[in-house]
Amino acid sequence: MELRPGLSALVTGGGAGIGRALILALAQKGIFVTVVDFSQENGKEAASLAGTEVSNFHSNLTFPPVLFIKCDVTNKNELAAAFGKHVETYGGLDICINCAGIATPVSFYTDETDGSKSWRRAIDVNLIAVIDCTRLAIQAMKARKKPGVIINVGSASGLYPMYADPIYSGSKGGVVLFTRSLALYKRQGIRINALCPEFVQTELASKMDPKFIALMGGFLPMDSVVKGAYELITDESKAGSCLWISNRRGIEYWPTPAEEDKYRLQPRTSRRKPPEVVPINIQLPQNFQKIVVHTLSHNFHSATSVVQAPLRLPLKPDHVLLKIIYAGVNASDVNFSSGRYFSGGGTDLASRLPFDAGFEAVGVVAGVGDSVKHLKVGTPAAIMTFGSYAEFTMVHSKHILPVARPDPEIVAMLTSGLTASLALEKAAQMESGKTVLVTAAAGGTGQFAVQLAKLAGNKVIATCGGKDKAELLKSLKVDRVIDYKVENIKTVLKNEFPKGVDIIYESVGGEMFDICLNALATYGRLVVIGMISQYQGEHGWRPRNYTGLCEKLLAKSQTVAGFFLVQYAHFWQHHLDKLVDLYSSGKLKVAVDPKPFFGIHSVADAVDYLHSGKSVGKVVVCVDPAFSPRQAKL
Ligand code: NAP
Repeated sequence: MELRPGLSALVTGGGAGIGRALILALAQKGIFVTVVDFSQENGKEAASLAGTEVSNFHSNLTFPPVLFIKCDVTNKNELAAAFGKHVETYGGLDICINCAGIATPVSFYTDETDGSKSWRRAIDVNLIAVIDCTRLAIQAMKARKKPGVIINVGSASGLYPMYADPIYSGSKGGVVLFTRSLALYKRQGIRINALCPEFVQTELASKMDPKFIALMGGFLPMDSVVKGAYELITDESKAGSCLWISNRRGIEYWPTPAEEDKYRLQPRTSRRKPPEVVPINIQLPQNFQKIVVHTLSHNFHSATSVVQAPLRLPLKPDHVLLKIIYAGVNASDVNFSSGRYFSGGGTDLASRLPFDAGFEAVGVVAGVGDSVKHLKVGTPAAIMTFGSYAEFTMVHSKHILPVARPDPEIVAMLTSGLTASLALEKAAQMESGKTVLVTAAAGGTGQFAVQLAKLAGNKVIATCGGKDKAELLKSLKVDRVIDYKVENIKTVLKNEFPKGVDIIYESVGGEMFDICLNALATYGRLVVIGMISQYQGEHGWRPRNYTGLCEKLLAKSQTVAGFFLVQYAHFWQHHLDKLVDLYSSGKLKVAVDPKPFFGIHSVADAVDYLHSGKSVGKVVVCVDPAFSPRQAKL
C-alpha cells in the first residue's frame, strides 16, 4: 500500500512514545488519523500536532483531519465506539496500528488482584486489547472491501525472554504469535504484521536499568521504528511477518526462512497432488543416442562425442527408464569432461574413460522395473544423475524426482535453482535485512540467488555483463544492478556500500573473487559457488594463490564457505518442492535463455554458448524436439 494523502489510520496508544511518532509520521504523508489514547492530555496534544501536518495536504475539509478519542483499550465497548467513529468520519479504515502497551506494575507471584495495578492489567492492555483491535479493524476493512494493513506493535521481548518483566514478555510473545497466525487474511486483502522494536527512549522504557540499555547498544532511534512501520505498510509481500528492529542487528525479519523451515509442514506430504501422467506414446527404440567423454579435456567439443548405445531391456527390478525431453547445461560440464569430478586423479582418471556426460534432465518415465510400484509410465520426472545428455537413461528409482511437468523451467530449478536455494540457506546462513551480492547474477544459478535473497527480505546487488542481463535483473527487482561492461564493480561497491556487503554468492572466481573479498563486511560470509572464469584457462583450470586471505578473514571475523551441491542430495526434493511452489504461486520467475538447442548433437554448442558469456538465464537443450511445447506446458 502506497503511503498517500487521503488514506486513514487509527493508532491506539497514539498519545505518547512510539504511537505518537507513528501518528506524526503518517500525518506527514497527509493521512487522516485517529489518535486513541487513555490520556486526554497526551492524546489531544498529539492530535493537535498531527492535525497541523495533515492540513498541509488538504483544504476545505468538511471533517476533522485528525480525531482524538479518549479510550481505555481494555473496554471493548469504548473500543468499538472509537473504531465506529473513525469509519463514520473517514468512510473506512486503511491502516490500524495497535500500539497501546504498559509495563507490568507488580510482580506476578505476589499479586492475586484483578484491578488496574494488577499484572492481569498488563495482559489485558498488551494482548487482549490487541486481539480486540485486530478484530474490529478486520471488520471495518472487510466492510469496505478495500485492502487494509494492520500492524500490531509487539516488542523484541516478544521474541526472546525479558527476565525483568516476564508478564510483559509473555504478553508481547502472545502478540507476535497471534499476529503471525493471521497471515492468511492476506487472501482477503488484509495484511497483518507485527513490529518488534527493542528499547526506544519512551516513558515505558525509562523504567529500564540504564546499564541494561547500554548493553543493548543504547536506545533505538525512533526513525528506525517509523522506517519499519513504513516497510510493513508498503511491502505487499509482507503478511503474518514479524519485523525485529534492534541497534545490534538493524531491521530483520524473524523467524528467518531457515528457522521457519524447521517447523513448517511440507506441502508435499500434505497438499501436493501426485504428478499427472503425460499422455504420450513412447516408442522404445533398440538404440539411443548419448554423449560420452572419450578424452579428458576442458574443451567440451574435443572431449566428447555422440554415440549410439543399445537400450538394454528388461530393466533391473528397482530401476526406471526415463525418456529425456530437456537437459540442463551447466558451467561445470567442462570440469566434468576434464575429469575434475572424480577424486583420486592421476592415471586412474584415464581408466574411467569413456563415461557419460550431463548432470540433469526432465522427461517422462518410459518403463519401470518389477519392484517399482510408486511410478507409472508417463509420469513426469527429473533426474540429477550423471549421464543426462542422452535420449534415454536408466536410473535407480530412488534417483527419480517426480515433478509436475517436464518443462525447461523445471530443469532450471534443478542444479541452478537448488544450488542457490541450498547454498544461501546452508552455507550463507542467509537471514533478512542484510545486503547480498550475487555475481554472474543473470546466469543459470545467479537468477535464483537474487530472487531468493529478495524474497527473504534482503537488499540485493547483482553483477552482470551486458544490457539484456541488466534488464532481466531489474525485472527481478534487484536493488542495484552493476553491469561491469558499463560500470566499474570495485568503484560502485566502494562508493555505494562503504560498510561492505554481508553475504556474497560468488561464482566467477579470479579477479572477481578478490573484488568480492575486499567488499565483504565485518562478520560477512562469502560463499564460493564456483569460479567459471578459471575453468577454461589456456592450460586448464589451475588453482590460484590467495595471499593474505587468512589475515583478511581474521581482521574482520569473516567467513569464506565452500558449497558443492552433490553433498546436499538429502535436501534436494524438499528444496525443489519449495522452488516449484514459489514458481507456481508467481513469487519466483525462471529465465530460460531463448536460443534454441535441439537434439543431442547440439549439446556441445550449448556448452560453448554458456561459456561465451552471452547467455541470459538458464541454457537448456531440447533433447526430443518432437515433444512439442504445447505438450510440455501441459
Ligand atoms: P551461468 O551463470 O549461466 O554461466 C554463464 C555466465 O557466467 C555468463 O553469462 C557470464 O556472466 C559468466 N561467465 C561465463 N564465462 C565467464 C568467464 N570466462 N569469465 C567470467 N564470467 C564468465 O552458469 P551456471 O551453470 O549457472 O554456473 C554459474 C557458476 O555456478 C559456475 O561457477 C558454476 O561452476 C557454479 N555452480 C556451482 C554449483 C555448486 O554446487 N557449487 C552448482 C551449480 C553451479 P556475466 O558476464 O554476466 O557475469
